[in-house]
Amino acid sequence: MNGIFKAFLVKYGEIGIKGKNRYIFENALMDQIRYALKPFGDFYVLKEQGRIIVEAHDEFDYDDVIGALTKVFGIVAICPVAVVENNEWENLKNEATAYMKMIYEEKELTFKVAARRSDKAYPLDSMEICAKMGEHILDTCPNLNVDVHNPEVKLNVEIRNKTYLFSLVIPGPGGMPVGSNGKAMLLLSGGIDSPVAGYMIAKRGVALEAVYFHSHPYTSDRAKQKVVDLAGIVARYSGPIKLHVVPFTEIQLYIHEKTPHEQLTIIMRRIMMQIAEKIADKQGALGLITGESIGQVASQTIQSLNCTNAVCSMPVFRPVIGFDKQEIVNISQRIGTYETSILPFEDCCTIFVAKHPVTKPNLKAIMRSEEMLIEMNAMIERAINETEVILAQR
Ligand code: ATP
Ligand code: MG
Repeated sequence: MNGIFKAFLVKYGEIGIKGKNRYIFENALMDQIRYALKPFGDFYVLKEQGRIIVEAHDEFDYDDVIGALTKVFGIVAICPVAVVENNEWENLKNEATAYMKMIYEEKELTFKVAARRSDKAYPLDSMEICAKMGEHILDTCPNLNVDVHNPEVKLNVEIRNKTYLFSLVIPGPGGMPVGSNGKAMLLLSGGIDSPVAGYMIAKRGVALEAVYFHSHPYTSDRAKQKVVDLAGIVARYSGPIKLHVVPFTEIQLYIHEKTPHEQLTIIMRRIMMQIAEKIADKQGALGLITGESIGQVASQTIQSLNCTNAVCSMPVFRPVIGFDKQEIVNISQRIGTYETSILPFEDCCTIFVAKHPVTKPNLKAIMRSEEMLIEMNAMIERAINETEVILAQR
């Protein structure tokens, strides 16, 4: 498809964007489109009558552009546009016919022409354009037939100072443009679930930052790099992610030493949530995101979730909460995180995993154990101060 198309018409959903906030949605979408296309050439993005037009000012690779646009949340459909510079009728008619031949070749299809002219001085009106152009295409392409009610192909002809021809409709990812719904802090481990959770919340227009708890040397540099890589893959959709790498070894060893072994995981998870909330607060994020799913492991029973939830005051978004593992795997394969998630670098050392963790923790008992952790506040402060920030980009 290289060479035929010079512009793209971007269609976006109407839900939730009516009224005075509409421009926030539209501007966020245009920003995301510009960001997504930056590596692939020189593009001009403009807004017009409830849709966005992307014009190429240079050569570009068609597949790269479609690959990038189909990752921009908020886009419902993308129509590649062929641009005819010379509007003169004979030329336009021939160009439109050449377009149909090129795109549909010898395929047996039904079509209709839908014309619109913003140039009202054009010698033919919309009805005449449809009729005459349809006729010319019909005469020239024996494999095409007209069906005005239910055509397989609708050739749109929009006449302005140039003419736009488009008929292909490529589905976008839907959702809302990132940046139109604030920011949240993703607790990102090296597993399968949390990258999917981040993707799902970003799809609703929420910008992401992420926090990773790193227990060096119990977890390796490669485990950390894996998390950076995962953040980079999610960033293909969400835009750049500021990843906060929190040194967690001292805290983990301290919990390990001071509290009953079967409570270790749940207490550790509560401290993670606390630290994530503090960082979120500092960064202006308004919620936390985790990859928890009810009953998947001991720390994700409904009792455990109550215990971890009780420690934060921000809303915790758990978009995969009702999904089976396989459903989460399916999404991770589709978005491209799966192969990285299954690399065998442990995100948790076995000495910190209890053989028989509590599956029905009692919050009061957990809090009593936590009273033993008198140095915890100071350790949390230290961990936050020593946090390393990495900018993860696609
Ligand atoms: P995942 O596949 O996302 O690692 P999981 O099934 O392994 O999840 P847990 O290890 O119990 O489940 O973690 C539950 C959630 O807690 C994760 O989805 C993630 O949001 C967060 N989490 C766990 N470990 C870490 C970590 N080291 N750093 C940051 N967040 C973490
Ligand atoms: Mg995990």
